[in-house]
Amino acid sequence: MSNQLKLDEKRRKAITQCSRCGFCRAVCPIFDLTKRPITNARGKMILLKEVMEGKLPVTEGVAQALLRCTTCMNCTVNCPSGVDPQEIFKAARKDLVGMGFDNLFKKMGEVIEKYGNIYGEEERHDWGHKKSRAPYVLFVGCVGTFREEESVEETIRLLDLSKVDFTMIDEVCCSGVMEDVGYSIKGELAQRNVQALQKTGAKTLITTCPYCYRVFKEHPSYKDLGMEIKHITQFLKDFDFGVKTNKKVTYHDPCDLGRHAGIYDEPREIIRKIAPNFVEPRRTRENAMCCGSGGGLRGSFPEDSIEISRSRLSQIIEETGAEILLTECPSCLHNFQNAKLRKQKIEIYNITEFIAKLIQEQQKKEAA
Ligand code: SF4
Ligand code: SF4
Repeated sequence: MSNQLKLDEKRRKAITQCSRCGFCRAVCPIFDLTKRPITNARGKMILLKEVMEGKLPVTEGVAQALLRCTTCMNCTVNCPSGVDPQEIFKAARKDLVGMGFDNLFKKMGEVIEKYGNIYGEEERHDWGHKKSRAPYVLFVGCVGTFREEESVEETIRLLDLSKVDFTMIDEVCCSGVMEDVGYSIKGELAQRNVQALQKTGAKTLITTCPYCYRVFKEHPSYKDLGMEIKHITQFLKDFDFGVKTNKKVTYHDPCDLGRHAGIYDEPREIIRKIAPNFVEPRRTRENAMCCGSGGGLRGSFPEDSIEISRSRLSQIIEETGAEILLTECPSCLHNFQNAKLRKQKIEIYNITEFIAKLIQEQQKKEAA
């Protein structure tokens, strides 16, 4: 077994390019919480440099430090040296696993292989939307399917109310998350998804989860899918839903949808149509603060994850005074719902879920 990080030349060069300016400190959600220098990108880059130069041994402490990152990319967009720290941390996590520093995600990989989802759930809700063929196919992902079912139900209702001809498949986990936590995508599961999706004859795959969206778009295991891939906000941006709310509404950019996928405008185009009282938080778009759920943090450091979410939620409430917080990511939604305190009156929904509710309210009024 090797006792050194393998990190390729490009990444080694990037580590030496870090000028230690510390701009990343101000935007790192983990540093914001812990105030420990080792937790922000600067600290981890210094750690990696020391390891690379043989000044520090590779220890469990190094492995744990590198796991403490949500891969939110907020450091990346604020780095004057043009370094992408989270990409280097993900590569280093793989090296560490290769060196024998297995982490708890090894178990998650086994669970995914056995049950086809990250939670080890044996039964999957049947959304009743299986057609042999349809022009569109909807992929929900593990978090929505098993932890935010009510929200998914409303999203499906919205597609139905909007007369979208879509089908769904017997999904298994896209398993892209394994790549971020030191392991590799589950090729056999990816193949199962690819075959099931292709069998529908759909020309467009619609995902509700921004992370699944990225995996379908970016990972070579899905390169032969042969269909257009759209996040649901891209798909619905030109729809006219015919409903409005007068409530004060705000929006949280999910890191996977915003900084990672560059989708900032489509959710806003949809929200502006339904909410004239739309207000942005101070940290928004490429500077939006992470909800704390990504990069495996929710699994490896659950308390940090929920505290970050609590901090982001308080920030949004204080800055905007909004009554409704919208996002379009099952992981952000789930973390915020878990973090919300009883005294906080803000309601939190995915955009699609919220619109489906508005339509149903209007239908009830019209029927009364
Ligand atoms: S902002 Fe970039 S260059 Fe500056 S300390 Fe952070 S990673 Fe290094
Ligand atoms: S990716 Fe996010 S959590 Fe990770 S070091 Fe950068 S700012 Fe911090």
